Amino acid sequence: MRIADYGMAMEFVAARDLDDALAAKAQQPDAELLAGGTDLMVEVNLAHHRPSQVISLRRVAELRDVTPRRIGSGARWARLEQGPHRGLAQAARTVGSPQIRAAGTIGGNIGTASPAGDGLPWIAAADASIEVRSAERGTRVVPWHEFFTGVKRTSIQPDEIITAVVIPDDLPEHQEFAKVGVRNAMVISTVSCLVMRGDDGFRVALGSVAPTPIRATSAEQMINAESTISEAVLDEFARIVSQEVKPITDHRSTEGYRRHAAGVLARRLVERSAR
Ligand SMILES: Cc1cc2nc3c(=O)[nH]c(=O)nc-3n(C[C@H](O)[C@H](O)[C@H](O)COP(=O)(O)OP(=O)(O)OC[C@H]3O[C@@H](n4cnc5c(N)ncnc54)[C@H](O)[C@@H]3O)c2cc1C
Repeated sequence: MRIADYGMAMEFVAARDLDDALAAKAQQPDAELLAGGTDLMVEVNLAHHRPSQVISLRRVAELRDVTPRRIGSGARWARLEQGPHRGLAQAARTVGSPQIRAAGTIGGNIGTASPAGDGLPWIAAADASIEVRSAERGTRVVPWHEFFTGVKRTSIQPDEIITAVVIPDDLPEHQEFAKVGVRNAMVISTVSCLVMRGDDGFRVALGSVAPTPIRATSAEQMINAESTISEAVLDEFARIVSQEVKPITDHRSTEGYRRHAAGVLARRLVERSAR
């Protein structure tokens, strides 16, 4: 463990491995974790946040492993663009720029827990869980809907580190992601949507339309009860999605536009994944 002091009382710990990072977090539960820094350093540079202690995870190789059932929290977007999951790869390709994708991680996206986090609808549609670990209590695996508790709020404890996204066995192969923003590239989502189609039918998850990522469960039930996906069924499905989301008006968009876009996006992705 190396410690540097940057004069402004910001203590920096570069963890060598996971045990090192867990020990540092146990010792300093208020310390901020740094993965790619693409969210955290923006906050620091804008002087919105000045953590007195930072624990860097950048050298923790164990967190970068990616397998079909487990994605290490330190996996960078540039890695996830390559697979193994189609919908997550599609989402990864839309995150920021190549520079941001080379540094930013899925763990940081989860840690920030912004409603606009582009990795989060995939986690919701996959019904994945977030694995967290602490030196004292070991590992906890938290279902996604219990992990995300509000805008930029999660149920992680101060001494815990997100170690992985754990994916259930029944993950559907048909996966489609799309997002709407004010431009085509380098854009934070105004609305994002991930649709999966598997043996249990369609799964529909959305981002930027509620304090946390959500599943459009009423719309899912409606469309999964239909034997044929006709134009009328799709119209009704889009209407239910628009009703079910809980967006707000903010500097990026209005509630009304977000409702409309959520319906349009979900409908389009259902059509695409039904092919
Ligand atoms: C120009 C620009 C464009 C962007 N575009 C997009 C975009 O299109 N879509 C999008 O979703 N995001 C975007 N972002 C935001 C950001 O890049 C992503 O959220 C990224 O995934 C954050 O990952 P990171 O590793 O850089 O996180 P960091 O900045 O290192 O960390 C973010 C937060 O998570 C916590 N954290 C990190 N790792 C862990 C861990 N293992 N356990 C517990 N807590 C942890 C940190 O303490 C911090 O609070 C953009 C950012 C910038 C600057």
